[in-house]
Amino acid sequence: MILLQFSTRTLIPQVGNCLRKTSKLKLTRIEMNRPSSDLAEFREIFAKAKHITILTGAGASAESGVPTFRGAGGLWRKWKAQELATPEAFGRNPSRVWEFYHYRRELMLSKSPNSAHIAIAECEARLSKQGRKVVVVTQNIDDLHKRAGSKNVLEIHGSLFKTRCTNCNNVTENYKSPICPELAGKGAPDPNTEDAKVPVENLPRCKESGCNGLLRPHVVWFGETLDSDILTEVNNELDICDLCLVVGTSSVVYPAALFGPQVAARGVPVAEFNTDITNASKTFTFYFKGRCGITLPPALARHESEVIF
Ligand SMILES: [Zn+2]
Repeated sequence: MILLQFSTRTLIPQVGNCLRKTSKLKLTRIEMNRPSSDLAEFREIFAKAKHITILTGAGASAESGVPTFRGAGGLWRKWKAQELATPEAFGRNPSRVWEFYHYRRELMLSKSPNSAHIAIAECEARLSKQGRKVVVVTQNIDDLHKRAGSKNVLEIHGSLFKTRCTNCNNVTENYKSPICPELAGKGAPDPNTEDAKVPVENLPRCKESGCNGLLRPHVVWFGETLDSDILTEVNNELDICDLCLVVGTSSVVYPAALFGPQVAARGVPVAEFNTDITNASKTFTFYFKGRCGITLPPALARHESEVIF
């Protein structure tokens, strides 16, 4: 289709008389290439799939009320996430960055997985009994897939509930609330809040024997590269899956934006569940518009051909 659009644009100035005819041709081709929204057709493919990869982004968590700290109104105090979620910001002011992450961890304790997370987790559990596999690849750091019960989860941007030692690099799950005594009651997002200025020795520290290094959130910050081991696992999934779902991702954050198109390029069906059509949508087989908490549960529900255990 990209080729067709290119030729149409170049033809128009040269062959003015053909303008109407060419435009009609272009429209017809776009109509033909538009992804299907036929749920029954999707369900036939879903019923036969043995290995399903589900890519999720911020849209999957939006219905749980998880803020992204991006875009208009997305400030914590007077900062955007891009100003706090960097190694430089942490180096300059680890107390402030830990306050920001402490706030986000505590906030998540008041949020719950929504019907999209639950549909995915139930689908994984049900299909695993049939010898079929579901793997979630998520850009979200909020832990909601795991809390919903998903087992196969690749968190490409890390997790709010993991720490990494800046000294020994040890990565640990951490669900403590508060994460350290001095952050108790801190982290309020109001722009008039004073920094807590917690001394660095009282911020979260490594518990490995003899280390005591400063811990940081195990999340991928702006300017950092993604974990290569996780990316290798993701690429394996993308190479072997026989159905791929793209759920609530804006297709603007790389490399995740390339994952769906990468699967589509192999000729494997890709189904997008999103509130807005994206640049990648036209490369996919299916597009289901709407909030994924509404569209996903009927798509992943038990198919009549599935054996009940
Ligand atoms: Zn350590």
